[in-house]
Amino acid sequence: MHRIVIVGGGFGGVTAAKELAKKQLDDCDITLISDKSHLEYYGVLYRLIRGESPDEACLPLDIILPRSIRRAVDSARDIDPVKKTVNGLRRTFTYDTLILAPGSVPSYFGIEGMDHHSITMKSASDAVAIRRRVIRQIRSMARETDPVRRRALGRFIVIGGGPTGIEASGEILPLARKTAHRLGMSCRGISVTLLEAADRLLPSAEPHTSQKILERLHALGIAVRLRCAVSSADVAGVTLKDGQRLEAATILWTAGVKAHPLLETVEDLALDKRGRAVVDTLLRVPNHPDIFIVGDCAATPFSGMAQTAVEDGHFVSEVIAAMHRKKPMPVYKPKAPAYAIPAGTAWSAVKFGPLRVFGMAGAVMRRAADIHVYMLILPWRRIPAAFLGRSNGPSCVVE
Ligand SMILES: Cc1cc2nc3c(=O)[nH]c(=O)nc-3n(C[C@H](O)[C@H](O)[C@H](O)COP(=O)(O)OP(=O)(O)OC[C@H]3O[C@@H](n4cnc5c(N)ncnc54)[C@H](O)[C@@H]3O)c2cc1C
Repeated sequence: MHRIVIVGGGFGGVTAAKELAKKQLDDCDITLISDKSHLEYYGVLYRLIRGESPDEACLPLDIILPRSIRRAVDSARDIDPVKKTVNGLRRTFTYDTLILAPGSVPSYFGIEGMDHHSITMKSASDAVAIRRRVIRQIRSMARETDPVRRRALGRFIVIGGGPTGIEASGEILPLARKTAHRLGMSCRGISVTLLEAADRLLPSAEPHTSQKILERLHALGIAVRLRCAVSSADVAGVTLKDGQRLEAATILWTAGVKAHPLLETVEDLALDKRGRAVVDTLLRVPNHPDIFIVGDCAATPFSGMAQTAVEDGHFVSEVIAAMHRKKPMPVYKPKAPAYAIPAGTAWSAVKFGPLRVFGMAGAVMRRAADIHVYMLILPWRRIPAAFLGRSNGPSCVVE
């Protein structure tokens, strides 16, 4: 038996598993190890701040993966490429071929106090926690009599003008205002400030798109501050590199991610500045040709997107099948991903091939993209439940 072990039940790992299962390779035993029993579709996390069901984001592995794939809920701690083992919290897995797809984790670039004093949006639990926090802060604000404390409670700082920062800002302000209305209080003193170190939002997009998103955020009432680098964070707010202070009781960090630290446990693995593994044209690790890296952990031109992770998963399954059947190797062709970035209700900025769409039509396209993602991952009959946020399995939100 040839043992294929996949670490990570996200877009990359799950696609590799599903595609390998379809290929029905002789004498292969495939195991997928993930620390969660579901895949998280991060693309809909902003909707959870709005109050939509976490079931839109959490797709149980039991219904995604075919029966031929062994599933293990375990957290991989380290990898021994000589013994060819993955050491999990619960048990050790031995592999002949290893596919690593544990995704990414927040990176704070060494900014003092940021890891302790900020929250992030990297899971369904995080998104639900953001919603609860916003509501709690506004409720506390309504009760607070000390003006300084009251001001801080109503202020939300979002750091990072990339897709996650834009999506989160566009949800936090309307939610805070709605909560204030429900409590019969004025919205004066409630603010969301989005800080971006570059001179425009979404620096990886075209300038026209950055400008459209900036105008949209302004129209929503969000204060956007460009060329604003943060030097430290504390319980009362952030200090900027130029010495300015911004007071706020809530700081959301969305400005950086790095590859999962599991990669650091693999001896002789060359990592780039973002902790991603340097890979060859077959997505293999040069020193360890039996280890493949997919998704956010691979130093490929478009990693950091679910679309890339899905393509990587496909590609690696093709390579493994070709090796197994002694057929010619496929060629890796990185494809520039499309994007659809929501900013508040009924508005998205979409880039799809030559098409650029902004506004309500973009929001419709964004939801169509969600259906497309569900189609890639779920069996047909499960798609309506996921799209409508109806339960497909046990709750995924950690209280
Ligand atoms: C808020 C947000 C919105 C996004 N929106 C979009 C979007 O609209 N479009 C888009 O293309 N991309 C989007 N992305 C990026 C996209 O989600 C990621 O690029 C993609 O999920 C990467 O896939 P992956 O398989 O590498 O990692 P993940 O999908 O993160 O999967 C990693 C898996 O590994 C598991 N894992 C982690 N550590 C261990 C361990 N030690 N042992 C076992 N298992 C482990 C995790 O639980 C997870 O299941 C978004 C990301 C965020 C945070």
